[in-house]
Amino acid sequence: MEIKLDELLELRKTLHRNAELSGREERTASLVKDYLGKYLPDQIVDGIGGYGIGAVYQGKSEGPTVLIRCDLDALPIPESIELEYASETDGVSHKCGHDGHMTIVSGLAQILHNNRPDKGRVVLLYQPGEEVGKGAQWVLDDEKFSQIAPDYVFALHNLPGFPLGQVVYREGVFASASKGLIVELLGETSHAAEPQKGKSPAMAVAQLINGFSAITQFHSALHEAAQVTVISARVGERAFGTSPGFGTVMATLRSHTDEVMDRISAKCEDMVRGLCESWNLDTKISWDEIFPSTTNDSKMVRLIMNIADDLGLDKFEQPIPFPWSEDFGNFTDRYKGALFGLGAGESQPALHHPTYDFPDDLIVTGVKIFEEIIKRLLMK
Ligand SMILES: [Zn+2]
Ligand SMILES: [Zn+2]
Repeated sequence: MEIKLDELLELRKTLHRNAELSGREERTASLVKDYLGKYLPDQIVDGIGGYGIGAVYQGKSEGPTVLIRCDLDALPIPESIELEYASETDGVSHKCGHDGHMTIVSGLAQILHNNRPDKGRVVLLYQPGEEVGKGAQWVLDDEKFSQIAPDYVFALHNLPGFPLGQVVYREGVFASASKGLIVELLGETSHAAEPQKGKSPAMAVAQLINGFSAITQFHSALHEAAQVTVISARVGERAFGTSPGFGTVMATLRSHTDEVMDRISAKCEDMVRGLCESWNLDTKISWDEIFPSTTNDSKMVRLIMNIADDLGLDKFEQPIPFPWSEDFGNFTDRYKGALFGLGAGESQPALHHPTYDFPDDLIVTGVKIFEEIIKRLLMK
């Protein structure tokens, strides 16, 4: 079926203008619903996990459910390039190309409207909150997700640095796990002339910076990709008469697999507790922006490889997992499926760079790949 590209280009511009932060995608969701109104799904599961939307297209007979997921959110990065369709939201813009991902998935609505699958169902899922690693979990935790209950899950991410339209695939782990660690150290202030009378967290902060940085050296094997990056450390205030009573250290942990992540997470927590005991401090440990690794099903990856060949697309096997994370891993943890990359051009600025903008040339390619996935899984 012919794709109405003009309409999709217009949609991409409208979504770009209306960029919104994670978890606050109210306007974006209503623009998507307006668009879907033209290509009426059989059911809309609205407000799933916040502003998420599931558009359900029913097949002609019973069969599996294929979920195609895109992401609704933009980033807290000001638009720094001249665009006719520049973001109208102060300090917020689509610098990860989620406007493009939504447009691709909306292209499928055009097709599915008049061409229902032979069997099963297709759910177009517009997921909130991807950038903060929470949205997939919000959607999965929502009781409305029982109405979606997929058998297969798919998503793509555009990838600057790879040739335009190249299909980037990998069996097993595609994107790494990552987690934010927040350590609060609670002591007691004292006069700076009498630090011995207080409980200063200063030494524990210093030792945690050193210790976290050494975790991977001592607690993971050479072949186990693991990284602990201290991203923030603070102790006390600008008060020269006071020995501090409070400190924080934050770090980002990364690894290819969830098993290694669990191990280095436990080591970090042990280290905090040990140091707090020796410095007589209380502590509060919390975790934020938790992304599991995104692990692809081999059979589903081979399906995508075959489709790339049949569509005459260039393809590339990513040799090692990508170091970045995608909360789509929450879906691949539970369901068979795959996340794949679509090259956004070798000279394209990197994701999250202020000069990045989604290349419209990818829209048709993205729609066609997903269309083929649906056909091959849901045709008799
Ligand atoms: Zn991003
Ligand atoms: Zn993204």
